[in-house]
This record gives sequence, C-alpha cells and structure tokens, in this order.
Amino acid sequence: MKILVINAGSSSLKYELFNKKLDSLGDGYIERIGQKGQIPNHEKAVKQALESIQEKGLVASLAEIKAVGHRVVHGGEKYSAPVRITPSVQKEIQKLCKLAPLHNPPNLAGIKACKKLLPKAAQIAIFDTAFHQTLPQKAFIYALPYDLYKKEGIRRYGFHGTSHLYLSKVAKKLLGKKADRLVTCHLGNGSSLAAVKNGKSIDTTMGFTPLEGVPMGTRSGDIDPAIAVKLSQKLGPEKADNLLNKQSGLLGLTGKSSDMRDLLATRKSNKKSQLAIDIFCYKVAQKIAAFTASLQGLDAIAFTGGIGENSGYIRAQICQYLPHLGVKVDAAKNRANTTLFSVKESKVSLLAIPADEEKEIASQTLKLL
Ligand code: ADP
Repeated sequence: MKILVINAGSSSLKYELFNKKLDSLGDGYIERIGQKGQIPNHEKAVKQALESIQEKGLVASLAEIKAVGHRVVHGGEKYSAPVRITPSVQKEIQKLCKLAPLHNPPNLAGIKACKKLLPKAAQIAIFDTAFHQTLPQKAFIYALPYDLYKKEGIRRYGFHGTSHLYLSKVAKKLLGKKADRLVTCHLGNGSSLAAVKNGKSIDTTMGFTPLEGVPMGTRSGDIDPAIAVKLSQKLGPEKADNLLNKQSGLLGLTGKSSDMRDLLATRKSNKKSQLAIDIFCYKVAQKIAAFTASLQGLDAIAFTGGIGENSGYIRAQICQYLPHLGVKVDAAKNRANTTLFSVKESKVSLLAIPADEEKEIASQTLKLL
C-alpha cells in the first residue's frame, strides 16, 4: 500500500508518495496551475501528479494508493487531530474558508479532485492549526471585547502546526526528557515559533492569521495595530492587507528581496540587508526568551525551515542574545549544520532539523487508517 500526500495551494500543488514504512518514494511540484487571471484547475494538477507517479513506475496501479493525506491550513476550533474527510467534514472545511479565505479553498479543491480521481482511497485531512489547539485560553484570547471571540472566532489559532509537531517529536527522540521545555522555530518564507511543553503546544507566535509574530519574507509580523488601521484608512483595506502580507518583512525592509540567501550574500555591501537580518534575528530571539516564561524554563531550542535548518549565521545571530539562559553554541558544529550544535556544557540543547511536513502528514494519515 502507498500513501499520497497532497499540499494544494492557490497556484501550485506539491505531492509526495510514501510506502507504509514511511519511506519517500518520490515527489513533485506542479507550478502555475491555472494561467494568470484564470481559476486554478486542481483537478488537472492532481491528474498530472498521478500520471507522473505512474510514468516514474512508483506504482504499478493507482489502486495501490490506499490513502491521501491532505494538508489543510485551517481547522478552526473544531479539529485538533487528523480526520477522515466525510461529506460533513468537507462541509466544515468549506465553512472554515471564512477564517482562511486564501488557503482553505485551494485545499478543498485538492480534496475534491482526489475524491474524484482516487475514489477508493481514504481521504484524510491534517490541519495546520491542530497542534496548537492545546493552547490555554490565556495564550489564545486577545485582549479585545470578548464577544469577538465568541461571535466571530477571533482568537489565536497558530499555523505551521505539522512542522512544529514533527520538530518536537524529533527533539524528543534525540533528547528525551531534555526536550520537555522546548521552543520550536520554523524559519522559512513564513516563520513561526512555538512553546512546546511535554510535547504539547502551549503558545505560538502566529495568531488569527499567519501575519502575526516575527518578521517573515514578505509579512510584517507584529506591529502596532494602529498602523494597520492607519494604512487601511489611507490605502483602503485591500491594499493595506497586501502591503502587510506581501510587501513587508525582509522584502519591505530591503526593497529588493524576500529571500534570506540574497540578504546574506549582500549584507556586507548593503546596509539594508544587514538591518533586515538584524531585525529578524533580534525578534526571533525575543520570542524565544518570551516563551521561557510560558515554559517556566528552557531545555532545548529546535530550528527548522529553509533558514532555520540551513543558516548557521542566522542561528548564531539569534543565539547571541540568549547567553543568560545558558545557551552556548558550538561554532564549528553550527557552521556544519550538525543536528546537535550546542556545546556539552550548554544548559540548553540546540538542534537543527530538516523540515519534513510531508512525512509527518503521511505518518498521521497511516495512524488514522
Ligand atoms: P517555505 O516557508 O515557503 O516552505 P522554505 O522553508 O524553503 O520556504 O524557506 C525559504 C527561505 O529559506 C528563503 O528565505 C531562503 O532564502 C532560505 N534559505 C534556503 N536555503 C538557505 C541557506 N542555505 N541559507 C540561508 N537561507 C536559506
């Protein structure tokens, strides 16, 4: 039997095939599904993915695919674990489009396409918000009129849950009890941190939407909310939203690139690149420190994502703010992206772990079967 993992976005579709031992058999990325201005055609993209799987000989017949694990961004308060996608679950995911208008619709389109093209396979949803459903109220309720939570569902949900969960499991495997009070840092185009106590998420930096938290490739992260009001009055809500989500963060600061590799390559000659890097590292370090209050201590920090798992420079810049917590980097190991890169006497274990959300989705899909 084989498990197919599908991550259907608004303009692209990622897929990966696993066997039941969770070995990856092959993957693919279909870009620009739907020409500019047209509605993306997820059915065509899934068809293309399935054809490619057959052409590469990854399956003798599509009937071998017994389950499809779908990444679904928003599970609201309803879903704190993976579920089989029954018609009523599908309706709920549809309802949740209200909370994630950019993400849940393409996820849903991927589900519909797979139901049609692989009608015998079990369809399972794995939600990006699920891991953070263990947050206590004091961490997820905003200090706004309480009715906004009750009536509009305005609260912190948190995202990247599958990645934070995977990271916390790997940390636990490597460190045992020394990962009981853990901060997980997913640093990529989108970035978020989570405070994970005994394997459960108790706080996280992304909020009602993925805009909150540390600065990202193109998202501002935390700002004075009055700035959003001001921008909205000046530009109108749509342009203000676009500015905060698509034109801010590393891109906004440099005016050139949202890509950390570009900033690292130009930091010596371009002050704005260095400033953007400095702001990013400072804010990430501050969040780690804040989460030590949530965790009442700190045993380990785990980094992942394109930036977190690859850039020793960024990890070192973040850790330089944290010696008072007992954080001590082994410079050579950090440069080499060694998994455990803290020195022996460091009070806090430091880990760099490649992200593998697809494998975690496959693992959860298998478990549910
Ligand atoms: P996404 O969040 O879209 O999944 P990734 O996790 O792949 O994206 O992260 C993309 C980010 O990782 C980009 O800013 C990219 O520059 C950065 N990145 C990738 N490789 C490196 C590297 N070797 N050093 C520094 N940054 C890197």
